[in-house]
Amino acid sequence: MKGRSFDIAIIGAGASGLCAAVAAARCFAREGRSSSGIALLEALPRVGKKLLATGNGRCNLTNSKITEDCYFENGAFALNVMRAADHEAVLAFFSSLGLRTKEDECGRVYPQSNQAASVLDALRFAVEKHGVCVLTETKALSLKTHGNGFFINDSLFAKRVIVAAGGQSARQFGSDGSGFALLRELGVRLRPPFPALTGLLLGKPYPRALKGVRAECEARVCLGERVLAQDTGEVQFNENGVSGIPVMQISRFASMYAGDKSLVLQIDRLPGMAAGELQAYLQARAREYPFLAAEDLMSGLMPKRLASVCVKEAGLSPSSSVSALQQADLERIAACVKGQTYTIEKTAGFDASQVTAGGVDTSEFCPQTLEIKKIKGLYCCGEVVNVDGLCGGFNLQWAWSSGLVSGTAAAQSLLE
Ligand SMILES: Cc1cc2nc3c(=O)[nH]c(=O)nc-3n(C[C@H](O)[C@H](O)[C@H](O)COP(=O)(O)OP(=O)(O)OC[C@H]3O[C@@H](n4cnc5c(N)ncnc54)[C@H](O)[C@@H]3O)c2cc1C
Repeated sequence: MKGRSFDIAIIGAGASGLCAAVAAARCFAREGRSSSGIALLEALPRVGKKLLATGNGRCNLTNSKITEDCYFENGAFALNVMRAADHEAVLAFFSSLGLRTKEDECGRVYPQSNQAASVLDALRFAVEKHGVCVLTETKALSLKTHGNGFFINDSLFAKRVIVAAGGQSARQFGSDGSGFALLRELGVRLRPPFPALTGLLLGKPYPRALKGVRAECEARVCLGERVLAQDTGEVQFNENGVSGIPVMQISRFASMYAGDKSLVLQIDRLPGMAAGELQAYLQARAREYPFLAAEDLMSGLMPKRLASVCVKEAGLSPSSSVSALQQADLERIAACVKGQTYTIEKTAGFDASQVTAGGVDTSEFCPQTLEIKKIKGLYCCGEVVNVDGLCGGFNLQWAWSSGLVSGTAAAQSLLE
């Protein structure tokens, strides 16, 4: 086994890996040690590709309203790790890289420029300034312990390795689950990965006519009548199912019960109006405008195509005259608006997901360093760890914090 030798090799140059590289380089710089001994391996031709797609190209890089509950899994562990690099520390870190940020009313933090590229540039420039050795188009296919270090691909030796290869969401941005495979080979315990923050594909009677409609709804993932999770916000209706932030927030529960025949999506298409209020509204409209078509009864409440589908779901023709509608018809329309149920066939899967749930079992780590307890010198950060959060900047916060903690710890262990 011959090849290059490094102090630290970081596998994956995404959010957490870039952060780990800068943190390690800063530690070395403080001691006058060169960062050319830090290698950052990236499978793709460029670093940080996923970052450019985050926050719809704006990068929601953190959130000031962070609590344990913002994480579905292992929130207490995540916050424990963040004691060494919390929200404020992350903001200070980016500020030290020259990145100015702004916060919205929900605590979501974005770059001042509104461009995700600014966040990536801040990290890229710091990596370059410190002289970290960036090896693009270099995929780690194997990781083996060797003496007091590790061999990657049987050729690159490193005294310390940080696995920052992400999960297996949105493969087009490089994270394909290969980090999990490397760790599994070393006997590291993993929780089975599954997609979170993704869309839902719905079975009959989901009406394809809704394709392209967006509306404020309350979405609930249920097992029969039991509500597993619910959220309210703008739902996007697609050809075969639904997406949008509220759907993503609850999709994890559909992943967990995938294959269960009683898994359904209940959707309230008018969460701001109680059922009784809606019925009274429809009755008043019908009295005042008897010449309208049934689909126009709700023209002031929701997009027309959605109203038309609700009328159809009530067993009526959208073009039927309001004057012909009975009280019972109006009650049925109101009931369909407030609670339609569709079977969930499956989630939109890893490729459409923003984050992977599952990953390295948190009991494997020392939370102060993110070193794997049973394999000295091996660290992990980011999504490869079994921590996943809500939409709103919490997943990147975890990536930054865990990158800072692991990068600092790996470098310090070589300076002791
Ligand atoms: C479309 C989209 C939008 C998102 N928006 C937000 C948002 O606004 N806010 C938020 O908090 N979170 C957001 N997320 C989630 C967030 O981007 C991730 O949680 C975060 O990027 C995870 O960081 P990471 O470093 O663990 O993994 P990644 O960012 O996925 O980086 C992993 C890197 O490792 C490389 N790699 C993988 N395997 C290997 C290997 N074997 N060898 C070498 N290199 C390898 C990959 O190519 C990749 O560059 C979004 C995700 C997506 C997909």
